[in-house]
Amino acid sequence: MSVLEGLLKAFGNGSVEVIDLTTPLSRDTPILNLPEPFSNTVGLDLSPVSDFDDAGPAWAWNDITVGEHAGTHVDAPVHWISGRDGKSVDQIEPSRLVGPLVVIDKSMEVADNPDFLLEPEHLEQWQEEHGQFPANCWIIFRTGWSTRGGNAADFVNADEAGPHTPGVSVDGARWIAKNASISGFGVETVGIDAGQAGNFDPMFPVHSYLLGADKYGVTSLRQVDKLPLVGATLIVAPLPIVGGTGSPARVYALVESA
Ligand code: MN
Repeated sequence: MSVLEGLLKAFGNGSVEVIDLTTPLSRDTPILNLPEPFSNTVGLDLSPVSDFDDAGPAWAWNDITVGEHAGTHVDAPVHWISGRDGKSVDQIEPSRLVGPLVVIDKSMEVADNPDFLLEPEHLEQWQEEHGQFPANCWIIFRTGWSTRGGNAADFVNADEAGPHTPGVSVDGARWIAKNASISGFGVETVGIDAGQAGNFDPMFPVHSYLLGADKYGVTSLRQVDKLPLVGATLIVAPLPIVGGTGSPARVYALVESA
């Protein structure tokens, strides 16, 4: 039996499950909201072209308007000034978008402290417990944050000091950027950096260091609580927008039942 025949058999008998980590994309999907004087992107809008009417009696279809960085989406290197000479989203090799999945679970810590930051010691501790990060892996930072996704105010969690959402410290971002085994970093929050990361030095260190090191981000992930810490495979599928700085994406995990 070939490897793919074995995989299809496993899908058929349920021993490998496909888990959809994507936030449904609608007008209500929470998107990033930058403060003045910065400009903001738009979320999804649908406008009907026809709806089984005179404009198309037997067919319905819509035009969509959507920001590259709306909902569950990929950040490509050209999104950030540190990666401006790097790849646009269409140039990311498919082989970098499918790989072994590493889950780092800090949901208990985040429940106590929404500004919790992932540090190098947390990444090193994971490796002490589970082994080295596998080649071409994606890290998903499990925080439990997606449980707030149904309420935009809870999801952004802002006060007069700005948003308070978990992320990665400057040292942690530098650590990930330097690790040759890591292809990408996924989060449950609206962006790959912490809510307060505009105040860090450098500001937005995950964007700055990872996108500058040809690593990619993916945001607004859901159902992360269903993933094992090791052993799953991640499939990240952005649209190949030519020259795009990112794209809404469908994200699946293949998980083997115990
Ligand atoms: Mn983005």
